Amino acid sequence: MRKEKPNFLFIMSDDHASHAISWYGSKINKTPNIDRIGEEGMRFDNCFCTNSLCSPSRASILTGTYSHINGVLTLAPLTCLDNRILTFPKILQQNGYQTAIFGKWHLGTGPQYCPSGFDEWAVLPGQGFYHNPEFIFKGPCGGYRKTVKGYVTDIITDMCIEYLESIDKNKPFCLFCHHKAPHRYWEPDEKHLHLFANEEIPEPETLLDDYSTRATAAKVAEMRIGVHMEEKDLKCEINRNLSEEELRRWAYQRYIKDYLRCVASIDDNVGRLLDYLDKKGLYKNTVVIYTSDQGFFLGDHGWYDKRFMYEESLKMPFLIRYPEIIKPGSVNDDIVLNVDFASLILDLAGLPVPESFQGRSFLPLLEGKTPSDWRDAMYYRYWTHRRGHNVFAHYGIRTKRYKLIYYYGDGLGLPWNCEEKETPEWELFDLEKDPYELKNVYDDPEYSEVVKELKNKLNKLQKELGDTPYHSED
Ligand code: CA
Repeated sequence: MRKEKPNFLFIMSDDHASHAISWYGSKINKTPNIDRIGEEGMRFDNCFCTNSLCSPSRASILTGTYSHINGVLTLAPLTCLDNRILTFPKILQQNGYQTAIFGKWHLGTGPQYCPSGFDEWAVLPGQGFYHNPEFIFKGPCGGYRKTVKGYVTDIITDMCIEYLESIDKNKPFCLFCHHKAPHRYWEPDEKHLHLFANEEIPEPETLLDDYSTRATAAKVAEMRIGVHMEEKDLKCEINRNLSEEELRRWAYQRYIKDYLRCVASIDDNVGRLLDYLDKKGLYKNTVVIYTSDQGFFLGDHGWYDKRFMYEESLKMPFLIRYPEIIKPGSVNDDIVLNVDFASLILDLAGLPVPESFQGRSFLPLLEGKTPSDWRDAMYYRYWTHRRGHNVFAHYGIRTKRYKLIYYYGDGLGLPWNCEEKETPEWELFDLEKDPYELKNVYDDPEYSEVVKELKNKLNKLQKELGDTPYHSED
């Protein structure tokens, strides 16, 4: 039995894909400090976001609900998180926890949208800057703004350590360390500026994907490496006369190096926080989580960015350390979701989970006991239509083996979406035979039964979660 309430250190980066973490088998970098959390704790291999975009995933994590329930369908400031909505930090705060958040918020600013449920906070306005960033500090009427000198990942970590120094040692804490990095435009710090300078980073298998057999959505997405990048992305002029293959391969090296340099700084700073916990005797009673708001295409399918329900974007890294109950070095492949985090943390704190939360605590999974009725499928929906890299609105279902995606391609009259409708299309992938999702088998008669079953499951999940299936008015 656990005697006292655990502390929580929730570290979340922005757009850090699990295939750029060595504990997940990265072929392109090493993250020794992030790996420590997995080595001493548990790695989740099938952790997914329910809408692969910054603000929606963050809202789902805090509220334990899907985008259509919490209202954060797309990026702030178009749909912000109303800060009167119940979140798990509010419940922790009401139950004796000291709570704080530092870094990326991206759920809106001003009195109605600034962080609530936190004793202390300092957050970046919008995406924030890498160098000498401005922060909004807790204060009346939504807080006050002040620029802080330095590199954003170091500053956020400093704020976290200063906070831990300042709090009551006899009360538990829940601290959110939310990094801006490695979000676009991938600006490294001085220390890592020349990392990988004379190296070739291995290319992903699907860098030269030609999108044949796939839905129109994949072909027209404007997130191709080099092709749809600006000089700001690559920090140099782009030679548009290169063939697309040459352009992708050349730009990949420039892009991925900066991305990984930003990750290296996160890794150093995770190390600082872990060392701090060790030094202060907080190792045993602190639950440490490392995650990212979604995955990211690291040249996979020739892309950067996220949004799609494809694996690299859908998957979130999730490492958790809690020596009281987790066996070191363990790995779990059950399906867990960003909407589950709120329930898990409340459960670990010994607090009841509100009925309105849609996720499920996966505490039994941490103990190595998967309940027999654990979910065998997850529901995903990307609400934004064509605004942002020209990605079509879609929803779908993923089981352990299959993924069915429906590109309904309609902005549904939502004000920020493109009005133009697309002809709906489906994709089906057999992940066992085709882990890189290169072969759409939706029209293959061999899979007709699978399609039928998955459609039924999808309808059932939508109904259970209170979402509405797409029906064309035409
Ligand atoms: Ca993000």
